[in-house]
Amino acid sequence: MAPGNRKNPQRATASDSTYTLLEFMADFPDDETCLNWLWRTRYAPDGETAFCQRCETERTFKRYTSKQQRQDWTCTACGLHVHPTAGTIYHKSSTGLHLWFYAMYLMTSTRCGISAKQLERELGVTYKTAWRMFNLIRNQLMEQDPDEKLTNRVEMDETYVGGKPRATDRAKWQKPGLTVQSQAVSWAHDKKTPIFGMVQRNDKVWEDGKTKATVTNYGNVVAYVVPKKMQSDVIRLMDDQVKDGTTIYTDDSRLYDWMDKSGWEHHKVRHSRGSYVANYQIHTQQIEGFWSLVKRGISGTHHAVSPKWLQGYVNEYVWRYNHRDNGRGMFSALLLRSAFPLATP
Ligand SMILES: [Zn+2]
Repeated sequence: MAPGNRKNPQRATASDSTYTLLEFMADFPDDETCLNWLWRTRYAPDGETAFCQRCETERTFKRYTSKQQRQDWTCTACGLHVHPTAGTIYHKSSTGLHLWFYAMYLMTSTRCGISAKQLERELGVTYKTAWRMFNLIRNQLMEQDPDEKLTNRVEMDETYVGGKPRATDRAKWQKPGLTVQSQAVSWAHDKKTPIFGMVQRNDKVWEDGKTKATVTNYGNVVAYVVPKKMQSDVIRLMDDQVKDGTTIYTDDSRLYDWMDKSGWEHHKVRHSRGSYVANYQIHTQQIEGFWSLVKRGISGTHHAVSPKWLQGYVNEYVWRYNHRDNGRGMFSALLLRSAFPLATP
């Protein structure tokens, strides 16, 4: 059962894109329904015919009730047991499937995400459990696809994430002879963690003889935590994830100077000269908008994030951005990933 397929087809698209709590609860009322969903999604679309590894053919599987309420199905020909949760995020978890599904529902139905503290309260699990669930979901299920290639026009930018200097640290970061702004830049460089990101932009020119207009829509975003000296990482990420022939827009940071001699069509926004763009297409507003979502989310929802866990949070914001128009699709895609074994269990 795909979540929410029983909707009235007459309903407007706007409401189709949201997936309400009542709809979620109707689709997945308990652990048993969630387990059945996993079994059908991973092995047996009809609920009982699946490929048996031992018989090496399609067989009928049955679920035998036992005192231990085992979460497996048995091949009626050879007796092989198949566990739909084996190798997945749910494997050996003491948290029930329904709570896992509900955690994913919460993560995909809020605009800025929720904190482990909120999850603890919503699910009635310990903080440690809530935090562990979040990390697995962010790092395993929301992992960005390294084969995802961007093309057309791509905006690139870097940002720094981390706390503001505490009053007690001021003495340490104040450097005599520097302006307040330079001190802040220097602090950012020392204490904050850099993230590099790219977003695809699709500009379409419409012409009907009388009028000409450009319509822009945005494709996916890609964002990774990178080390302080990040130029080699930027080069690697571009090689891996940007198609040849793509037009690149960046700010005028020296980080991107190498591009001009490397065959990319590269346009710089000259922020530092304070002159705003002769050509309206030369900007990096979309990726900057994405950074402000990430920063607002981290400071508003999570307060502070240690560099060690930052990539997981970035994955979550990328996931949310890339599924931004469809809350139902965002949940379905996450749930579907959860049904299959993890790359690194
Ligand atoms: Zn068998």
